[in-house]
Amino acid sequence: MDAVVLLGAPGSGKGTQTAKLCEEFNYNRVSTGDIIRFEIRERTLFGKTVEEYQAKGLLVPDDTVCEMVFSYLSRIDGRGLVFDGFPRTLFQAQMLDSFFCERDIRGLVFLFDVTFENIESRIVNRVSCPGCNTVFNRSLDRLEAGVPCPRCGTGIGVRQDDTIEVLRNRYDIFRREVDPILGFYGRKVHVIPGNRPADEVYLDIIKQMNFSVLDSLNS
Ligand SMILES: [Zn+2]
Repeated sequence: MDAVVLLGAPGSGKGTQTAKLCEEFNYNRVSTGDIIRFEIRERTLFGKTVEEYQAKGLLVPDDTVCEMVFSYLSRIDGRGLVFDGFPRTLFQAQMLDSFFCERDIRGLVFLFDVTFENIESRIVNRVSCPGCNTVFNRSLDRLEAGVPCPRCGTGIGVRQDDTIEVLRNRYDIFRREVDPILGFYGRKVHVIPGNRPADEVYLDIIKQMNFSVLDSLNS
């Protein structure tokens, strides 16, 4: 089984690539945010624990996040996996690595390499489809609000923009968080220049996935 791990700052295009991989390969999307929202909605023990931390304004501890994610993984079927927003810490990366080893999962790690200026202009240009949730870039994808979505035909809408200050803060946090993770994965990380049209980035990912298949056949 294959797993794709996407690392990238908020706004670097992880969500778009995740959606494409899920659509084309029928992968399961693994997003910490989604899992947490699910647990809270279903009022599970995990959900209640998370709410207690959030009520105190505290971050959910690493081991609780891992337990939630791995518990989710044990409940889903054996399709490929794409990780969007996990791991966020060195501990999570180490736990995920053991998980892959134990289950003989081939993990591929990608880093979307974008500068803050790239993200800034991308967010300003961001439009999305309310029908299929695909996010587009007005200039790169040559789309305007109101025109039909190239994927599903629904009218494209303007996405609520984050303020630049919030964005800058999230970008800085990401840079701090990702360094130890990159150190842990070392040369396993495939760096993908991210400031390009989504389809080009996607082709890069597919190419690497195919190379790795050949690698593992030859070894
Ligand atoms: Zn659409």
